[in-house]
Amino acid sequence: MTGPLLTIDKVTVRFGGLTALQDVSLQVAPGAIHAVIGPNGAGKSTLLNVISGIYPVGGGSVALCGERIDGLAPHAILRRGIARTFQNTELFGEMSALENVMVGLDRHHACGPFAAAIHSAAWRRSEEAARAEARRLLALVGLADAENAAAAALPFGKQRRLEIARALATRPRLLLLDEPAAGLRALEVEALNRILLDLRAEQGLTIVVIDHVMALVMAISDRITVLNFGTRIAEGPPDEVRRSPQVIKAYMGERASHALGS
Ligand code: ADP
Ligand code: MG
Repeated sequence: MTGPLLTIDKVTVRFGGLTALQDVSLQVAPGAIHAVIGPNGAGKSTLLNVISGIYPVGGGSVALCGERIDGLAPHAILRRGIARTFQNTELFGEMSALENVMVGLDRHHACGPFAAAIHSAAWRRSEEAARAEARRLLALVGLADAENAAAAALPFGKQRRLEIARALATRPRLLLLDEPAAGLRALEVEALNRILLDLRAEQGLTIVVIDHVMALVMAISDRITVLNFGTRIAEGPPDEVRRSPQVIKAYMGERASHALGS
């Protein structure tokens, strides 16, 4: 494939009188790790919500492999191969890590309620296949030893990784992550970085990641788009973006150069 995997073209989103995104464009190359950063309220989560079909565009378009996806329902976009995690983790706390991932797998292994009711041989086979696949996904995010732990009992850093495993269960080609490193300690951020780099290298995933944590963004992204008050103020490779005067200004008050990791 030669063109971009994801093309966001002049997208505008309004909530009543508030413009959350104004003519925002960005392109994500296949196999890229593309970060979106910006101060609180800049429109980052809104952008992910638009890509995943939760919010409609008020102008502009979103395309995957050149085909428009704006206007499709979230489940249809998921089926096209775009999965996501949320800014606030949304796991089933009482369920085990393995079960949380199996929930995401269901549509691939479902055998129908009738088969499930009688626990037929076919149902047991599909249940075993789902279990094996869920184990494989847990291993990809470094949670092989946590499959029986209740999700709520896992440390926060592992919960975030479990969410990623669950998102992978739908076999996406594009993974959208909303602040996966928020609240993580330095070692956990390093572990997450390694996992994301491996997912790209070994599973061929393309990743769009929102984060404030510069130890993640600057270390693993190929390109960074910077939003401020709903508009794109900079885009480029990490070294270029961290030196952009406009970006440093947008981060003023957060001790800009420190916040940008330079
Ligand atoms: P970020 O993720 O960059 O912190 P958001 O995309 O969450 O920012 O929000 C951008 C702006 O849009 C904020 O002013 C926020 O209050 C507003 N906003 C986001 N979602 C909604 C919504 N569903 N209804 C009304 N306003 C919203
Ligand atoms: Mg947000």
